[in-house]
Amino acid sequence: MRFDFLTLFPDICEAFLSESILGRARKKGIVEFCCHQIRNYSFDKHKKVDDAPYGGGQGMLMMAEPIALCFESLCKKLKIRPYFIYMSPKGVVLNQSKIKELSKLSNIAILCGRYEGVDQRVIDVFVDEEISIGNYVVTGGELPGLILADSISRLLDGVLSNKSCYEDESHFVEKTLEYPQYTRPAVWRKLSVPDVLKSGDYAKIQNWKNEMSKK
Ligand code: SAH
Repeated sequence: MRFDFLTLFPDICEAFLSESILGRARKKGIVEFCCHQIRNYSFDKHKKVDDAPYGGGQGMLMMAEPIALCFESLCKKLKIRPYFIYMSPKGVVLNQSKIKELSKLSNIAILCGRYEGVDQRVIDVFVDEEISIGNYVVTGGELPGLILADSISRLLDGVLSNKSCYEDESHFVEKTLEYPQYTRPAVWRKLSVPDVLKSGDYAKIQNWKNEMSKK
């Protein structure tokens, strides 16, 4: 699967995508991540990418043309049109079933907004879907875009060591959360690990885990 980030801050994305589980998946070639600097597609001699909103209002908006040129150049390079998602607080709030659905795609391009957001026309013409990470606002679409790419990537074969790593987890089955977990030492600051987990009785342990999940 391939993700393309369209951003004014590719280094923010690269820093995250090169480390830990995603960094390893990338090295193994299970997932491809490419970051594209929208500013490189500015037609302005000062490489300007934003301007004041029509009708007044606070702040600046990202202009349509550099984003359009960046996306069109990507489509040309890939020879296909990736599914294009704009990270936006106005979008549908992300959940695990949306992530499962998106994990079936082969190419996703993610538009990361900045400032007050992007010119609506670029959304109307190019964007397939607007996705929000929750009903609050952050300063840019890079963190939301990384959350989207991270949550999808960990469902791909070979990224985690096996399927049960994510199938047992919170939200994999709707309205189900993971049971509490403990590691060594067995007693920490006078608090003991529940006896059942040390019993070695597989059926009893499974039963406890199911009960705790429901709770
Ligand atoms: N003026 C906009 C907020 C802009 S925040 C509004 O009121 O709706 C700047 C950028 O951060 C957005 O373009 C978007 O890409 C990103 N962003 C902020 N909050 C987000 C959220 N909850 N989910 C996804 N992206 C978000």
